[in-house]
Amino acid sequence: MTMDPRILDLRARLHDCPELSGHEVNTFNIIEDFLRTHTTLTVERRPEGLLATHWEGEGLETLGFRADVDAIPMEGNPTCACHGCGHDGHSAILCALALATEGRRYGKNLYFIFQPAEETGEGARRICETWPEIGTLHRIYGLHNIPGHPLGTLLARPGCFACASQGFIADVQGRPAHAAYPGDGANPAGLLCQTVLALPQMTEDILRGDDRLLMHTVIGLRVGGENFGLSASEGRLCLTLRGHRQSDIDALAQAIRATLERGDMTAAFESRDVFPDTTNPADITQEAVARWRASGLSVRMLEAPMRWSEDFGWYLKRVPGMFFGVGIGENHPGLHTADYCFDDRVIPPAVAAFMALLEKNSVILVNWDLSGRGVSPTNRNLSCH
Ligand SMILES: [Zn+2]
Ligand SMILES: [Zn+2]
Repeated sequence: MTMDPRILDLRARLHDCPELSGHEVNTFNIIEDFLRTHTTLTVERRPEGLLATHWEGEGLETLGFRADVDAIPMEGNPTCACHGCGHDGHSAILCALALATEGRRYGKNLYFIFQPAEETGEGARRICETWPEIGTLHRIYGLHNIPGHPLGTLLARPGCFACASQGFIADVQGRPAHAAYPGDGANPAGLLCQTVLALPQMTEDILRGDDRLLMHTVIGLRVGGENFGLSASEGRLCLTLRGHRQSDIDALAQAIRATLERGDMTAAFESRDVFPDTTNPADITQEAVARWRASGLSVRMLEAPMRWSEDFGWYLKRVPGMFFGVGIGENHPGLHTADYCFDDRVIPPAVAAFMALLEKNSVILVNWDLSGRGVSPTNRNLSCH
C-alpha cells in the first residue's frame, strides 16, 4: 500500500512554511484548508489553536489527539525559523489520522487538536485554560518523533516521560558605594557567587540520595557594570531548572530565593518558559503498550525520562492520557540541530499507534510504501520574520 500522496504533499507544504511560536498563521491556513477539503470534520479556528471535531453524540467517550505545529529559531539567526523539531511531521500525522477515521464510526467523539507555541511552553497552557472541551476528555494522546531509536519504533514510559523545566531569573539589588569604600554599600557579587556554589548542596538536600533527576544550568550571571569608581549594587542570575518532578523544581527555586533574600539586599524573581513534567499514568501506558504489541507494532520501553521538556504535560495535569515517542532512526540528527529534518516514514507507524489507541483490534497498515519519499532535504527552506 502506498502512502496517501495528499499527506506527503501536506507535510512538504508545512515544511516549507516554518513559523515561530505564536506566529503560526500560514501553518494554520494550510491545515485548515486541508481538513476542510479532505474531511467532514467540524473545523474551528480559535485564538489558541485549531480544533477539528468528529462528533458522534452526547455522552460518548471522548478522545483527544494533539499535534504541535510551531517551528524553532535558526541557530545563530533567531529571526529565521526552521522545522528543526519535526512539528511539520506531527501535524501531518494528525491530518493522516483524520483521513484514516474519515466516514467511520467508533461510538466515540474525537477531537483533533492542532496546537501552536509548544516550544515556549505557552500553547498547551493557553488551550487548557480556555477550551472547555479539554475538561471533557476521557483520554488525550500526543507524540514526539525521537532520534536515536529505530525508525517507527514506539517509545513508551510509565511515570515521567519528559522533564519539567523552567527559566529562573533573580534580580538582586544592593547599595552602591565609592569603589574606595565598598564596605559602605552592599555589593551582591559575593551573595550571587555563593548561591551558585551552593546549588549542588541545595539539590542534594532535596533529593536525599534518590536518583531522580534535579539539575540546574547557569544561563547567565552578571553583576554591576564597568565603572571602576563604583562598587556594584545590582546583579542578575539566570538559571534553567530541570527535573523529573515539578515539586523538586519548586523546592529548589524556594531554596534559592531563601538564600538570596538574606542580608541587606532585596531580590525580585521571575519564571519564564515554564514546562510541567510530562508524566504518564502507569495503567494507561500499560494498556497502550499491550494494544500496540497486539497490533504487531514495535515497542520499546524507555529506561529514563527525556531530559527535554514538552508542554503536553499541561494536558496531563488536567485529564488522563499519555505522551509517547516514535523513533526516527538510530543515526538521525538530533532534534533542534542544523541537520535535523523530519522523515515521512515515521507517519505510518505513528498513525497506526494512534489508531490502536482509538479502537481495539484496529486494522494496522504499517507497511506503507514510502520508497523514494523518505527523508526530505534538510531544513533549507527558511522563513525569516
Ligand atoms: Zn523542540
Ligand atoms: Zn518538538
